Amino acid sequence: AKRQQGNTIEFFHQKMSVAVERELALEAEFRAALRNGQLRLFYQPRVSIMHSQVVGYECLIRWQHPTRGLIMPEEFIPAAERSGMIVPMGYWVVEQACRDLAKLQTLGYDDLVCAVNLSFRQFYDKKLSETVFRIIYNANINTGNLEFELTESAMMYDQAYTQKCLKQLTQLGVSFSLDDFGTGYSSFANIQKLPISTIKIDKSFIEFATNNIDDQVIVKSIISLAHNLQINVVAEGVETEEQLAFLRLHHCDEAQGYLFSKAVPFDDFLTYLEISKTA
Ligand code: C2E
Ligand code: CA
Ligand code: CA
Ligand code: CA
Repeated sequence: AKRQQGNTIEFFHQKMSVAVERELALEAEFRAALRNGQLRLFYQPRVSIMHSQVVGYECLIRWQHPTRGLIMPEEFIPAAERSGMIVPMGYWVVEQACRDLAKLQTLGYDDLVCAVNLSFRQFYDKKLSETVFRIIYNANINTGNLEFELTESAMMYDQAYTQKCLKQLTQLGVSFSLDDFGTGYSSFANIQKLPISTIKIDKSFIEFATNNIDDQVIVKSIISLAHNLQINVVAEGVETEEQLAFLRLHHCDEAQGYLFSKAVPFDDFLTYLEISKTA
């Protein structure tokens, strides 16, 4: 029996080291991808529900892999968070977002809010606000159009540091939104602790908002809570006219989802903006 247990443990160790090796290989490959320009930013519109007009967009990362094709963030972000590669990746995202925002502003699209995701892991970086400051200072953009999306997990590691970063960045004119609201460690206390101007209701609530009473109550409550605090509300994952009608009825401010467009490359997003203008 003893021998058998030994074999089991050895087998377990072998399996572990295979997993560790795979993780290290992915990390090396991702590091090279960042260096070799294989990352892309795609753009998804945010639409004002009352005015039926594009008011902003979210930047979403993709990995254009030479052999595996387009890889979605859920396949590499968690590993990038574990390895810390999310920090340099995150700076690349801010740089690319600013380059494309500058182009849009030059073309006259100067009212659009450009929303960039920030991972909780980026707040482990002691130079976060000064690095972001350097990037946006050099970018020749109106910083008032820049918004960072964060989740409540950004408060878990070092709450005081996160608050300090957000305060410093707010002074530069950028704003913040609370992403995936209603999931995870949601606590209304965080809304007061953070300089948040927008709440994004998680798509899991929108999915069932037209047939599940509990989700309807949650969505309505989030909207009225936010409005009582003068906070803008975006619903994510809006896929049907029925969902949009429900959100309009309950005065949700903005909607984002496949009903309007999925996330697309910059040139396709420009085309979308042109078409929406004349529609
Ligand atoms: P997220 O921030 O919650 O982004 C919204 C996700 O919902 C995106 O997935 C988007 O493509 C998807 N989505 C949009 N509309 C619909 C819809 O109508 N229906 C459904 N089912 N899904 C919709 P994506 O692009 O795969 O990104 C997944 C996650 O990866 C993001 O979730 C975000 O947490 C993370 N992520 C993406 N880009 C970045 C980035 O540049 N930096 C960081 N730190 N995280 C990123
Ligand atoms: Ca987001
Ligand atoms: Ca989200
Ligand atoms: Ca999410």
